[in-house]
Amino acid sequence: MADWLRLAGVVDESIVDGPGMRMVLFTQGCPHRCRGCHNPETHLSVGGRVHTVAELAGRYRAHGSLDGITFSGGEPFLQPGPLATLAAAIHEAGGSVISYSGHVYEALLEKAKSCPDTARLLAATDLLIDGPYVESLRSLELPCRGSSNQRLIPLTPVGRELLNQIEDGL
Ligand code: SF4
Repeated sequence: MADWLRLAGVVDESIVDGPGMRMVLFTQGCPHRCRGCHNPETHLSVGGRVHTVAELAGRYRAHGSLDGITFSGGEPFLQPGPLATLAAAIHEAGGSVISYSGHVYEALLEKAKSCPDTARLLAATDLLIDGPYVESLRSLELPCRGSSNQRLIPLTPVGRELLNQIEDGL
């Protein structure tokens, strides 16, 4: 299993990528090519920078005041193994895990049947924000989403709390 990730960027503190103060990883590589994508520099799988899971987990713990981590993109589910391992470390540190995907949840569940790492990442995700960005459905009103087709799907009790906080505007 890979113990490293290819990332387009890391933000150590964000208050706009889910409830609380969160670390955000912008994963490198995305197959979806949504029209109007705001992160086109993440599309190629060969760009970005390599980070080890241990480095990122240590960086998270060293901060000391984070509420969780958000996996953004790019397409996080292109690198499910190391992200699942990192997510477990974040949970051990008391944080929550939000992941975006340009795939819909049903497609990820199907993939998980033949890809153990996809299953692990789904199991380690508290709140999934799924689906591609659809420019014709763009909305600035929706918290944590760019277009109205995208869904906030809690996968754990913690994810349900995160969803409640988002819906309450926290
Ligand atoms: S899934 Fe996200 S990163 Fe990928 S093309 Fe669509 S909007 Fe851009």
